[in-house]
Amino acid sequence: MSEELSCSFCGRAKPQTDLLIAGLDAHICDRCIEQAHGIVSEEGTDEDQSSSSFELKPPKEIKTFLDQFVIGQTDAKKVLSVAVYNHYKRILNPKVEEEIEIQKSNLLLVGQTGTGKTLLAQTIAKMLQLPLAIVDATILTEAGYVGEDVESILTRLLQAADYDVENAQRGIVFIDEIDKIARKGDNPSITRDVSGEGVQQALLKLLEGTVVNVPPKGGRKHPDQKFIEVDTSNILFIAGGAFDGIEREINKRLNLQAIGYKTASSTEEIDKDNLLQYINPKDVKSFGLIPEIIGRLPVLTFMHPLDGKTLRSILTEPKNALTKQYEKLFELDGIKLEFTAGALDYIVEKALEYNLGARGLRSLCEAILNHAMFEMPGGELTELKVTKTYAEQQLKKANTSKLKAVS
Ligand code: ADP
Repeated sequence: MSEELSCSFCGRAKPQTDLLIAGLDAHICDRCIEQAHGIVSEEGTDEDQSSSSFELKPPKEIKTFLDQFVIGQTDAKKVLSVAVYNHYKRILNPKVEEEIEIQKSNLLLVGQTGTGKTLLAQTIAKMLQLPLAIVDATILTEAGYVGEDVESILTRLLQAADYDVENAQRGIVFIDEIDKIARKGDNPSITRDVSGEGVQQALLKLLEGTVVNVPPKGGRKHPDQKFIEVDTSNILFIAGGAFDGIEREINKRLNLQAIGYKTASSTEEIDKDNLLQYINPKDVKSFGLIPEIIGRLPVLTFMHPLDGKTLRSILTEPKNALTKQYEKLFELDGIKLEFTAGALDYIVEKALEYNLGARGLRSLCEAILNHAMFEMPGGELTELKVTKTYAEQQLKKANTSKLKAVS
């Protein structure tokens, strides 16, 4: 009797397999083929990702890219474009660093919520095709307290990079609400300051550049590994915050300057309505960020509050503008959606009235279109013209008190 054939990889006998393929002097079964295929394709994607050397564009081109998605904010865009350009130039030219150490260009974006800080970080990451982690500083606590350790920021970045450590190490981290971990007042309280200064201290090292042992939390490729080493030296950190009330600090400083010396700036006309444009690191320190943190976020810039004209543009102009998104959604159901100019003006007017900024535009559109999005698919009508009157009626029906509560 001839010897029974079996898979040379797993040892299964032929009857236990669905298929056994013969090689020169070995056999492979269907299950092992599938497994091998999995390994090959996984390795393939890893290769693609880590070897994808991103193309760095000059600052002007970076800004032009940002313009497609972010309306206005010219000052912040220029500063961000230069900082991003310098940061990645530094990474791509490690030799220069040996001669002169080029400092990291971590950024601090100060501006009201809903003015596009997160959007800027997202757009930069999209342009450079780099992993981005967005974290809220308020959930961070010192190690040992309830909440997340600062290291969790890197776990998220690793997840965003699909556990490609090399890619994560040159990725971008956006830390939102950094102002919320400011020290309150000049007298540190005697009770331990769980969410404030301790977190700032813990963040320092990450911002500066250090090697951290990061718990992978469910990484598919490192199931048994306890920690992954991540070097933060080349990670670009962008911190953002509303810094409510910082105008007072700016005003105080500007007035002091005016009383003290007659400097060039004190004789210039000060635009009292937008004091944020004069922000400098001293104001951020007075607000309660520790000087070491400020030093590690050396590029400071501000966001303009959004006026009606900007909100109107945000509705219709960006590549993925809200109205374009809704038009597409309706189009997929074979419905032609159209907003009249009057309706758009009305939405802007309401967003301003509720003090919801750009964030409110979406909630308003959603409230106005919800009824139609429920009723129209599968129905007879193939057109919807949103006029001011229609928007008013729908908004009245919707529970607008919910919208107001967001502000
Ligand atoms: P922030 O981080 O400043 O609180 P976000 O970037 O999260 O604000 O913006 C909230 C929403 O408003 C986003 O969906 C974004 O699309 C929109 N938005 C805000 N500012 C702008 C802008 N300048 N241009 C285009 N869209 C904007």
